[in-house]
Amino acid sequence: MTVFKIPVSVLVILYSSDADVLLLERADHPGFWQSVTGSLDDENEPLVDAACREVFEETGLAIASADMQDWGFSQNYEIFAHWRHRYAPGVTENTEHVFSSRIPVKAQCAFPPASICVGNGWALRMRQRLVFLGPTPRPFASSVGVSSLAKGCGGIEASAAWPTSGPAGMNRPAPLVVRRPEGLYCPQGDFFIDPWRPVDRAVITHGHADHARPGHGHALCSMRGLPVLRARLGEAQSFQGLGFGQRLRLQDVWVSLHPASHVLGASQVLIESASADGHGSERWLVSGDYRVQNDPSCDAFEPVKADVFISETTFGLPIYRWPNVADEVALLLDWWQTCRDEGRAAVLYTYALGKAQRLLIALLRLAPLPGTLFVHPSVARMNEAYREAGIALPELPTPPAMLSPGAMVLAPMAVQGSGWMQRQKPALAEAMVSGWMLVRGHRRRHAGVRGFVISDHADWPGLLWAIDQTQASRVVLTHGQTSSMARYLKDQGRDVDTLETEFDAQAADV
Ligand SMILES: [Zn+2]
Repeated sequence: MTVFKIPVSVLVILYSSDADVLLLERADHPGFWQSVTGSLDDENEPLVDAACREVFEETGLAIASADMQDWGFSQNYEIFAHWRHRYAPGVTENTEHVFSSRIPVKAQCAFPPASICVGNGWALRMRQRLVFLGPTPRPFASSVGVSSLAKGCGGIEASAAWPTSGPAGMNRPAPLVVRRPEGLYCPQGDFFIDPWRPVDRAVITHGHADHARPGHGHALCSMRGLPVLRARLGEAQSFQGLGFGQRLRLQDVWVSLHPASHVLGASQVLIESASADGHGSERWLVSGDYRVQNDPSCDAFEPVKADVFISETTFGLPIYRWPNVADEVALLLDWWQTCRDEGRAAVLYTYALGKAQRLLIALLRLAPLPGTLFVHPSVARMNEAYREAGIALPELPTPPAMLSPGAMVLAPMAVQGSGWMQRQKPALAEAMVSGWMLVRGHRRRHAGVRGFVISDHADWPGLLWAIDQTQASRVVLTHGQTSSMARYLKDQGRDVDTLETEFDAQAADV
């Protein structure tokens, strides 16, 4: 009986504490380097067991499954035609799951020297400087955080309150933000930040659905974001606007909002404890969602110093590095032109708030365009809110019953497969703009949807840069790829925690 390979595999990145990574050179293709990889032995083999087994088989290093980090990340790729005979008939794609493990420094001597064959066709050649982790943030000496904390408030004695090690909470002042069933809560100010259940007082960072939910007694947002939030939640939810940088006293704390870019009005929330003489005053910063790549569709990201930074990590994996936006827009324009040349109309899937307006501004600057641009009613509604907030956007028509060749519609993903779409002749060309397209583009293309990589979140270098800018002595990671980022920051000597929230990193950036 033929035993077919299972189209599920693992990839394991082995690295040392000083950021060297182990690469293998293929014996059958000299010059081709890769991490440890391999397929499951049988369909029931746990992924982590396969990862440990492959590392042992290919390098001789025995790693316990507890020391193997599952990134919770996988990607599909096409199997080369000349390898398909190894798989069951009809199998054309393989799913690869990513793991990593840190090798203790003393174990580095276990790495065989260059060019030694270690079985099953691999030559294990060398360690190479880690190339994908990008700008390494300077590890913070505790004194850096302490001196900025102590500045203007009576000297270095504040350091006693800020140990950088030891059990969480020990010797630390009462936290300014905690998790409650309703959401992130500031006890000293008696308010929530982006709560996922109705509360009496809420600070809302921005208008995306997983952050702005209805039904709060009082809601505070940036002045700039008021029209957007009113458009999203309706008049039933009353809002109070606060100018960026203005400080508002809420019981025992000061609150101020600072631009997070991301979408119009998106705010980082700075909470400062308001002790009478300034001694022991602390600053906690809650990021909401943010991007550090600036853009004319909303206010530029503002770096803010804080002692504790609670940060999103939607794209907290080293593979996420955004390409140049202008290059992606140029590709998008080429694709639209091709659609027109083929006599087809097109639909471009994009989040109705933020991404759509950003794309419109980028596209309209490149006029003349290949054809007429239409916007779905949900995009039109957000465009109106942007205009109300002072962003210049022209009024664009909503799509007619039948589109002419060369037309393009900006619409949310929800329209895919709708009756309106099915009635279009010829069938619409489809594309999607999202940070997820960096890894899912290939799969989508198989499904007939072209992908363009533009994101309204910070990529891996952007997250590291933003964290660095805060000079925070402690980082708390919320939604997204928290475990990978936490591991990386810990390796850099940072004090880091993760906090589970109900924000939806997967739904973001679509
Ligand atoms: Zn968002």
